[in-house]
Amino acid sequence: MTDKIHRFIFDTFGIRGEMVHLAASSQRMIEAHNYPSLIADLLQQAAAVNVLLATTLKFEGRISIQLQGSGALKMLVVQTTHELGYRGVAHFDEQQDYSKLGFTDLIKDGQMCITIEPVKGRRYQGVVPLEGNNLAECVETYFKQSEQLNTRIWLYNDSSQVFGLLIQALPDMLSEESFQHLETLASTLTADECLTVENDVLLHRLFHDESVINLTEETVKFSCECSPEKMLNALILLSDDEIEEILQESGEVAMTCEFCLNHYAFNEVDIKQHKSMDGNSTQH
Ligand SMILES: [Zn+2]
Repeated sequence: MTDKIHRFIFDTFGIRGEMVHLAASSQRMIEAHNYPSLIADLLQQAAAVNVLLATTLKFEGRISIQLQGSGALKMLVVQTTHELGYRGVAHFDEQQDYSKLGFTDLIKDGQMCITIEPVKGRRYQGVVPLEGNNLAECVETYFKQSEQLNTRIWLYNDSSQVFGLLIQALPDMLSEESFQHLETLASTLTADECLTVENDVLLHRLFHDESVINLTEETVKFSCECSPEKMLNALILLSDDEIEEILQESGEVAMTCEFCLNHYAFNEVDIKQHKSMDGNSTQH
């Protein structure tokens, strides 16, 4: 199975759709993090949702989905660029017994935040309470409340891959009946076929009797935006005394990117150089 997203449109109905499958990239996102399976499931599903939303970016930048709550899940974020590279991470209560918990325990009193950040221009943010029995329902509610767009989302995953399907009414939708008709067709999908059959075969299987136009087929990948420069930017937020103390103890400051788990190490010279460059760039 390949990591791809397909976009299509039911032109006579005025309804658009997208189908995404993430396997190698989602494995890369969750590997070595030691997430409880409930958290890993949710992170993979959030990645599928975020990639589904990212295809509508019409400029250079990124879109992110963030869940925050006071239950077992503290914070979960996935960020996807306009080039469909994504990364994600979750913070959770490590003392919990996750075998006894479900989705609603994870996201207790939580909220979902969708942020669009263009490289140039204003950032947009929509926030809604997390209401629903699963992530798909929460995202459907988000679209109803903040965008007034009738949207249905199906998400299926196992321990190493995730599938997502989105159907969304366009402003010129023909009728409610046409939306319900596509909903009924999509609801016949089983988790097993979604995770074992390629997108294009599934699309044909589901919609071969409909007037559907395939728009794009794009590759999705795991991609972390961390760099020595960004890590140093974070590091110099510490006080000089704190940095000095770490350098005295171990000769370097070791840092790990929380998304990709890449290790970085900076010595005194690295930090001094970065500070002087940072000072120069803010003067100009
Ligand atoms: Zn990274």
